[in-house]
Amino acid sequence: MSNSVRGLLFIVSAPSGAGKTTLVERLVEQVPRLRMSRSYTSRPARPGEADGVDYNFVSRERFESMVAAGEFLEWADVFGNLYGTRARDTERLLAAGDDVVLVIDVQGARKVRGLGLDLSTIFVMPPSLTVLEQRLRGRSKDSEEAVQRRLAVARDEVVAFLEYDYIVLNDELPAAVDRLRSIVVAERLKLRRMRAAAELVGGTFATAAKGTGELRG
Ligand code: 5GP
Repeated sequence: MSNSVRGLLFIVSAPSGAGKTTLVERLVEQVPRLRMSRSYTSRPARPGEADGVDYNFVSRERFESMVAAGEFLEWADVFGNLYGTRARDTERLLAAGDDVVLVIDVQGARKVRGLGLDLSTIFVMPPSLTVLEQRLRGRSKDSEEAVQRRLAVARDEVVAFLEYDYIVLNDELPAAVDRLRSIVVAERLKLRRMRAAAELVGGTFATAAKGTGELRG
């Protein structure tokens, strides 16, 4: 279905291991016309991850040629691997009227903010550093060194919450998904989004008032 209203752009960032991908996957299952963008990465797939599902997995060479061709809306080096959002993918969804969530790191969010687009940014906070550490150790076969590196980056990233419009505490999954859904619903109801629909309703009031006036006259 064609839609003349452009979709809204959301960014969700969080320290690695804060559970943002699971959260956003649940969110897009629950909210119609909300899509999660699939990033490109030069990082090798982890066991259980599939190309074209979790990420578009590409070689570093291919990623760098995409950078050179200006294909990315934003990209960043995270833990030594390259990650990026292809502009064309996001644009296609927004132009079709779907709302899009980019799940990207703090550096990527800064780059997109710098483009001056209309967007809403959300920072997902883990309940504590201890919980984050437990999640990082529990979820993967990452080496101790990799876990320590992710924790060090997390300490730096957590302070970036001040740059975001909304904060969602991920203490419990269903509650955190509800918080995210509230943000999307509220953003969709803002004047600039609702104006056309409200004007149609307003028009029926004007017609009715005119009719009454004519009767009185
Ligand atoms: P992971 O390797 O654990 O899947 O992701 C590592 C980090 O890269 C996460 O913080 C994730 O949000 C970030 N990331 C994933 N895709 C992108 C992207 O397209 N751009 C940027 N800037 N960061 C991304």
